[in-house]
Amino acid sequence: MSSQTYPGGVVIANPYPVDQVKIIQAPLPNKVVLPLQQRIGEEAKSCIKVGDRVLTGQVIAQTEDQFCVPIHASISGIVTAIDKQAIPHKSGLKSTCISIESDGQDEWIKTQGCGSDFLHCDRQTIIDYIQHSGIVGLGGAGFPSHAKLNKAIDCHTLIINGTECEPGVMCDDALMQYHPREVIRGVEILLHITGAQQAIIAIEKDKQEAYQSLLMFNHNDRISLTQLPTKYTSGAEKLLIKTLLDVEIPSGGFAADKGILCQNVSSVKAIFDAVIDQRPLVSRIVTITGDALTPINVEVRLGTSFEQVINLTDVNNQAHDYRMGGMMMGVDIETTQMPICKITNCIFVNNKTLKQPAKECIRCNTCNTVCPIGLLPQQLYWHAKSENIEKCTDYHLSDCIECACCSYVCPSNIDLVSYFSFAKALDKKQTADQERIDIARDRFEFREYRLDRNKEERSKMMAEKKQALKEKMAKDKEQGLEQTDKIAQAMARVKKTKEDNA
Ligand code: SF4
Ligand code: SF4
Repeated sequence: MSSQTYPGGVVIANPYPVDQVKIIQAPLPNKVVLPLQQRIGEEAKSCIKVGDRVLTGQVIAQTEDQFCVPIHASISGIVTAIDKQAIPHKSGLKSTCISIESDGQDEWIKTQGCGSDFLHCDRQTIIDYIQHSGIVGLGGAGFPSHAKLNKAIDCHTLIINGTECEPGVMCDDALMQYHPREVIRGVEILLHITGAQQAIIAIEKDKQEAYQSLLMFNHNDRISLTQLPTKYTSGAEKLLIKTLLDVEIPSGGFAADKGILCQNVSSVKAIFDAVIDQRPLVSRIVTITGDALTPINVEVRLGTSFEQVINLTDVNNQAHDYRMGGMMMGVDIETTQMPICKITNCIFVNNKTLKQPAKECIRCNTCNTVCPIGLLPQQLYWHAKSENIEKCTDYHLSDCIECACCSYVCPSNIDLVSYFSFAKALDKKQTADQERIDIARDRFEFREYRLDRNKEERSKMMAEKKQALKEKMAKDKEQGLEQTDKIAQAMARVKKTKEDNA
């Protein structure tokens, strides 16, 4: 029996609502920059060179790692550079990217897919199309969809996540309103691949238009729609499973272990495009919001700069703070000269304000009441602050999903989640250091053991050799005596012959 909710979480209304959610098609960019390092997996290797002309949808980089997806040109034009550039990552580091200057023609490569008659394609063929089309989780995780599907062997339930991951983000709402047919057909493809008995599309109650659009196009009795209360963080995978199916995924466990597969609604539409329209993932819908502009959802080619996309809005001329991702789990960024990538779902543009300084913890316990995972952020904070990782582990730091609900409600303005991500990084480092120490100790112990074993083997070998020599000498002696006997006997025979002949 599903509970339709979970303890904790916070109700936050969209801070910048719009009268009507729309999708604007961004004009073709003059230039795109495509990072070779995707969110997960190893860095792809370029398979084109500077000066080459590429077509939209052409594979321009790939890896041999079966877990990864290839990278496609998102416009047609000339490759102008393969060099290090700023990428949208919280590290702020630069990474190798391919730059393409548009020829304005948007000439597409000829692609191959299953077509609308996908029921005649077998499971693996469709999964391969999904991989070759570069589909990853578009909700923010960036996990390759084919890898998830390959793992879904005994899947009984599909959960299609149509709950916006964060307040203010509207791209999934817009997608469900304007592409309901593709979403429903995409879910049917997933039902065909996985053989699941049912698919549940989860939508928050404040997205009535999206709900009605999908309802109108759904004629499949294996697909149902469920409306959930609008509460952050309803979209977190484990919470969604608990809410819809009352199934607990234990710490360190996976949904697939329980026969459940979750996919974001935008990824499902991308799967439809890949399998039926034979279209690789070269664009996505991004929400541009904040108090410095009128919010819009824009469908934009991957690799377009944040700046170009922000310039499509009525952004004011004041100084701004920028944030990529949502207001809760997003990351503040210094520059807008970085490219939109597959997981860029939202950009916040706010008028610059002075951040309120953090004060002392007043032990009010508010943070402990909102943690959706049931952790104790207040206690975790004290241990993280004193870098006591052992205690943090006792308080299940690794289960923290860094949703920032605790930071959001803290009256002392303490950025609790930053302490937790710092403590996790420290834990990782200490574990890595400990692993290095363990490996060094294991190596030393193995060396000692190897030397002892060699010594033992050598003395055993010497003893065996000595014994063999001893035995050989005894044998030789014995054989020598026998030989002496034989000679004596021969001599006696010769002597006797001589005497007989005399
Ligand atoms: S909400 Fe803030 S002030 Fe209150 S207990 Fe938690 S950390 Fe301390
Ligand atoms: S950031 Fe971590 S500790 Fe804080 S509410 Fe979210 S899951 Fe709980």
